[in-house]
Amino acid sequence: MSSQETSSELYERAASVIPGGVNSPVRAFGAVGGVPPFMRRGEGPYLFDVDGNSYVDLICSWGPLLLGHSHPAVLGALREAAESGASFGAPSPGEVELAEEIVSRTSVEKVRLVNSGTEATMSAVRLARAATGRSKIVKFAGNYHGHVDALLAAAGSGVATFALPDSPGVTGANAADTIVLPYNDVQAVRDTFAASGPDIACVIAEACPANMGVVPPRDGFNAELRRVTQEHGALLILDEVLTGFRVSPQGWFGIDGVQADLTTFGKVMGGGMPAAAFGGRADVMDLLTPGGAVYQAGTLSGNPLATAAGLATLRNATADVYAHIDRVSRQVSSAVGAALRAEGVPHRVQHGGNLFTVFFTDAEVVDFDGARAQHTGRFAAFFHAMLEQGVYLPPAAFEAWFFSAAHDDRAIDTVISALPAAAKAAARVE
Ligand SMILES: *Cc1c(COP(=O)(O)O)cnc(C)c1O
Repeated sequence: MSSQETSSELYERAASVIPGGVNSPVRAFGAVGGVPPFMRRGEGPYLFDVDGNSYVDLICSWGPLLLGHSHPAVLGALREAAESGASFGAPSPGEVELAEEIVSRTSVEKVRLVNSGTEATMSAVRLARAATGRSKIVKFAGNYHGHVDALLAAAGSGVATFALPDSPGVTGANAADTIVLPYNDVQAVRDTFAASGPDIACVIAEACPANMGVVPPRDGFNAELRRVTQEHGALLILDEVLTGFRVSPQGWFGIDGVQADLTTFGKVMGGGMPAAAFGGRADVMDLLTPGGAVYQAGTLSGNPLATAAGLATLRNATADVYAHIDRVSRQVSSAVGAALRAEGVPHRVQHGGNLFTVFFTDAEVVDFDGARAQHTGRFAAFFHAMLEQGVYLPPAAFEAWFFSAAHDDRAIDTVISALPAAAKAAARVE
């Protein structure tokens, strides 16, 4: 019976039927070593594994769980929706409400719901190419936009964790139209447009990159992307799959106010269910089928369970929720800095709103090369020491730490008390 099985036993079974034993590579402990605990249950700020351990969860499903695990409003909305049926394949009221919620908070005029962030960025790029009649796209090294073929070059998240330059299986033809530039490098953007402007359909960037660790845009960087794309008739796509509705009620847009032509969303807007979206200027969005000719579709898009969970999450994401997450994130990040300083471990804590990453390097990280220059071995030791003390960090050095409204004093105390031993463990690594 699976209920009696340990994580090791489950992992062994998983590995024989699921590649690498996981359904998303960042869940494996490839970068830090060991067997990932298999989770049985989540409640508030805690995860409970099949081996009887509990953890303060600082992954929050990689961002979606803004209210924490098993929030009563989200579970209630899911139960109610489930009793009316899992999927209709026809329009339903929740889709309208979720779309209105997104439009009312962000810069987008119209939005289409999809099932994953990958689908959202893939569709946004197709739409940008159709709208401009151009083929080339510009992306930045270390920015992650899901596993879209054309966007995997020099990507962040798992692609960075596993040190892949890109992915086998992405053909030369898929990648030929992708121009990869160093992040935060305004001059590289200007030069590229000077050389190839008439061929460039769009620039796609994370609104605030957090998939090579948190590497915020330099002051004015997003605004310059806005200016240059406009000047050359290209579209700007800001990817807010991770930051949307997490770093503020409006996402990163609420922090720097740069208005993209198209924006992608995911994670928080699904409240833990598969839901994502892309949206933007009405004239561009109206090019989509059925009104326009740019094909885009999805059997489960706008699924009633996903829209119910997403709406319940967004409607309960009050100003107090964001204020709480901002506060605990600052509290923990300064405690991490203090613990590492006490052990003389070179590090940088970098913030993007309420997201932060601890880089094991003493240089400011402004791009992917800087992020990769960190001491990942120290992170692995730090990670395992935290895990042993009941704190579940992202198992990779190229990720942000995530908090939720449910991270109360007790949970935060557990995290803070674990830091000195983790800092010592990191210090022991040469
Ligand atoms: C997570 C993420 C994606 C991909 O979303 P999936 O739902 O995993 O496909 C895309 N862009 C960014 C910025 C992300 O953080």
